[in-house]
Amino acid sequence: MVILERLVGDHGTLLLDIMGVLIDKSGAIEHAPQFVEYLNESKKPYFILTNICGDTETGIYERLRRNGIPLLSPERVISAGSLVQAYLRDAVPAGATVAFIGPQTCRAVLETGTHPIVACGETDFFDVLALLDDEGFPFRETLEAALTTCVRCFRESGRLPLLLLANSDRAYPRGADSYAFGSGIFATMFDEALKKLVGKSPEVISFGKPSDRMFAEAKRRSGDSSMMMIGDQLATDILGANNFGITSALVLTGINSRQHVTQAATAPNYVIDNLYITGI
Ligand SMILES: [Mg+2]
Repeated sequence: MVILERLVGDHGTLLLDIMGVLIDKSGAIEHAPQFVEYLNESKKPYFILTNICGDTETGIYERLRRNGIPLLSPERVISAGSLVQAYLRDAVPAGATVAFIGPQTCRAVLETGTHPIVACGETDFFDVLALLDDEGFPFRETLEAALTTCVRCFRESGRLPLLLLANSDRAYPRGADSYAFGSGIFATMFDEALKKLVGKSPEVISFGKPSDRMFAEAKRRSGDSSMMMIGDQLATDILGANNFGITSALVLTGINSRQHVTQAATAPNYVIDNLYITGI
């Protein structure tokens, strides 16, 4: 049996996913509040790694606190949305127009102060298209408006907008027997459609798990190579950690089960039932 305390002790910094690990739709997952309190009391460095894009890091911090997870500060949160925002700030020329696909709350997440941030359909030109979320907008109309604008931009300027992809997950289980398209599928859709319509693929940069960028940001903030990712999804949390060369632990309180582990190509270093920790 894997002893969670020993795993925690063997690693310098912990990285924790949110949904399926700390909270679910009904609130805190059993043992998660006590586990985070244990990390706080033992002064263990940890970060929250999430592909959430529709909320700021402060908003995510407040949501976790409201759900009983005693997170110490918003600086503990690393979100895919904030990485996209940092990329805009650092690598995209000021004044470039940025359109996004996702709920309206994404606008505040992307805000840099130097780039016009617009929803698809509000503009007939953009330099960058941020693919952030798969819900919170009229799906077909929004994607078709964005595709039309990409084609128009190419015809007028000879260039396609840069695509920033927050979450490369193409499909995910939403419940026991229910599945959803993830925003990762949008990059494939734009690539296929634009190859057909203008004969060229757009440049796509990925940010959320399993992308290295998120783990690299955790390493930058912690200054630590001895990290362990605890997540509930093989395709994002575990694959990303394995690719980055850090320890991965799958917790069985979310999407993936022991049966998935035996069937999947991605193997976690450890499987733990939950975040129960003895001695507290
Ligand atoms: Mg999760």
